[in-house]
Amino acid sequence: MASKVRLYVEQALGEGQTVSLEKEQAHYLFGVMRLTEGTVVSLFNGRDGEWDAEVAQAGKKAGTLVCVAQTKPLQMPPDLWFYFAPIKKDRTDFIVEKAAEMGAARIIPVQTDFTNSGRVNVERLQAHALEAAEQCGGTYVPEVGEMEKLAKVLDHWDESRQLMFCDEALVGAQEVLMGAGKGPWAILIGPEGGFSEAERVRLKSKPYAHSVSLGPRILRADTAAVAALTVWQQLLGDW
Ligand code: SAH
Repeated sequence: MASKVRLYVEQALGEGQTVSLEKEQAHYLFGVMRLTEGTVVSLFNGRDGEWDAEVAQAGKKAGTLVCVAQTKPLQMPPDLWFYFAPIKKDRTDFIVEKAAEMGAARIIPVQTDFTNSGRVNVERLQAHALEAAEQCGGTYVPEVGEMEKLAKVLDHWDESRQLMFCDEALVGAQEVLMGAGKGPWAILIGPEGGFSEAERVRLKSKPYAHSVSLGPRILRADTAAVAALTVWQQLLGDW
């Protein structure tokens, strides 16, 4: 049997709850996937866990589903925020997709001194995060924030959150992360041009910021994103 189609919806999910589909969703389920009435699909909305829902009406441009039973409770990721300097479009999309799959709770693009792209399309990035959650069986969709300036982010930082500052530092990630311990965290990845000296000085003066090395090779920003999330999840997260 083919695996169940998994779909993100906005509406509340609960036993007996009817969910009406939007045009594109109906097109996907009934036009593309050819589902018929009575088929069971899997729904999640980022709040109510995952539900089996049966197709009650299947139309070309509309349709309704009825929730039958919960199949998974809402599983929140660890309290980990992911700050990254956007790079080229495709690679930025990749970073957001991977951050969502890897269990970041919030994803925030930051503008650093050497960030190449001054603007990002947050809606497009949010759609990538949503697709990643849909694909990886997640019940939670990380919010993608508007791009913020790094200096401003640091000025307003809540100091109870530690920061894993990915720099070409000398100290290995394991030692630093284990030494600092669990709690709310954020990761910061720089742009292709790296961090400026001013940024480095500023970051290093913050008590909550921990410089972390990801090994002796300089990684591309998208590789560094996945490496940083892996090491954090392994040492302090939900793996
Ligand atoms: N051209 C820059 C490299 C930028 S790599 C330079 O030579 O400094 C993009 C980002 O990935 C960096 O800002 C950093 O956040 C992260 N990164 C890449 N390799 C890393 C490593 N070995 N250790 C820690 N962070 C790294």
